[in-house]
Amino acid sequence: MEILSINPANGKTIKKYSAHSDKQVDKKIQQTHTAWLNWRTSPREERSRLLNNIATVLTERKDELAKLMALEMGKPLAQGVAEIEKCAAVCEYYATNAAEHLKDQLIKTDALKSFVSFQPLGVVLAIMPWNFPFWQVFRFLAPALAAGNCGVLKHASNVPGCALAIQDIVKAAGFPQHVFQTLLVGSSKVDAIIANKHIQAVTLTGSTGAGIKVAQKAGSLLKKTVLELGGSDPYIILEDADLELAAETCVNSRLINGGQSCIAAKRFIVVKSVEKQFTKLFLQKMEAKKMGDPFEQGVDVGPQARIDLRDELHKQVRQAVKQGAKCILGGEIPKGVNAFYPPTILTKVTDSNIAFQEELFGPVAAIISAKDENDAIRLANKSVFGLGSAVFTKDKKRGELIATTLIEAGSCFVNSLVKSDPRLPFGGIKQSGYGRELGMFGIHEFVNIKTVFIA
Ligand code: NAP
Repeated sequence: MEILSINPANGKTIKKYSAHSDKQVDKKIQQTHTAWLNWRTSPREERSRLLNNIATVLTERKDELAKLMALEMGKPLAQGVAEIEKCAAVCEYYATNAAEHLKDQLIKTDALKSFVSFQPLGVVLAIMPWNFPFWQVFRFLAPALAAGNCGVLKHASNVPGCALAIQDIVKAAGFPQHVFQTLLVGSSKVDAIIANKHIQAVTLTGSTGAGIKVAQKAGSLLKKTVLELGGSDPYIILEDADLELAAETCVNSRLINGGQSCIAAKRFIVVKSVEKQFTKLFLQKMEAKKMGDPFEQGVDVGPQARIDLRDELHKQVRQAVKQGAKCILGGEIPKGVNAFYPPTILTKVTDSNIAFQEELFGPVAAIISAKDENDAIRLANKSVFGLGSAVFTKDKKRGELIATTLIEAGSCFVNSLVKSDPRLPFGGIKQSGYGRELGMFGIHEFVNIKTVFIA
């Protein structure tokens, strides 16, 4: 079987890769398990040194890696460089903080000494999406390696070049052979990989559908999973919001990565009294964004990552309009053999509309009218998803209360767009998945929280 890398800006095949055979996959997992038998007891300082090396390699190669992303999935160059810098930052974060996160926790009991020790599990399978082809992987890999685990990666089939580059980077940083390897396989091979006796746990970032399938298989074998899935993040704009800031932040969040981000703002829930004014500002700012070749300076929105995904998005937009939404910007497929889709705004979106109920994974904003604060919170929570969320109000106390206790989501930001940060846990509830990445909680997902009792 071949895995094709296709440039979404012009539909041309960049390169064909031969998929790994079942035998090759088994061999690689065995090699990674063997590497783990040594890596599990490697000194913490050595792991930190090597993670810092990864950060150096990434920084040195950031322009080349940004070009690879632009080619394989259409990310504008400047956004690609920023992604690689963030990957370097997460490696440095765990190089500095893993020892503290993993240090033994003494607990007084009737023992002479009793404590909790965080021990690695073994080889973790990472199944990753194409939207942030480096960040999604390093966000898993840096804490995994720091905790003494090893990893194998099944990356999305449209970014094989990025998948192999990551393997290269780990090697160039000086890590022992095979502690991390890329498996070039399609998703039909995943069940068998999960069943491999050396795979101890699975992390998947991707759609809710894929998450359910992987969780079912892993659950049937009692292998732990962390699932980072889809989202339809609500951004609430209250009547006392700074509307200029809110509109600017909302547009930026909606268009991050061509709108293809799990934590992009997707539902804009605006209190009626400011809806007209907010919509006007939002429209002006969306119109000002430039769509074009990801290699061109100043381009904000590149092509969508694949033509089939763009077509699926357009189908959702057409259905939303059929169901009563009004399209006030975009909503048409540009001519050409490519995967472009323009910044699009739907207004008059109700809670029964497809644009409210499903995730729109592209540059399409759904504006929803709310009577007041209570109604806005009700609408925000009326979703199968629960990943990120945001609220805009000049009253910070009011914002904090709503964020902390009233919104059902893995995170809620006040007067800011939702973003991941190596220091803060990241993840969702409901159909957005379970488990956390990043920070202390992230590194604790794939460890044996072991009790040691000395009488
Ligand atoms: P996807 O189709 O679910 O693919 C993600 C990964 O899962 C790919 O490696 C894919 O492999 C694999 N996969 C797909 N179906 C599978 C199955 N039945 N069994 C095993 N593996 C399977 O998602 P995507 O289109 O790449 O990414 C978009 C989705 O990811 C959106 O819903 C987005 O919200 C979500 N996402 C979530 C987060 C988060 O942190 N919560 C971050 C980014 C993206 P193939 O490519 O070979 O099919």
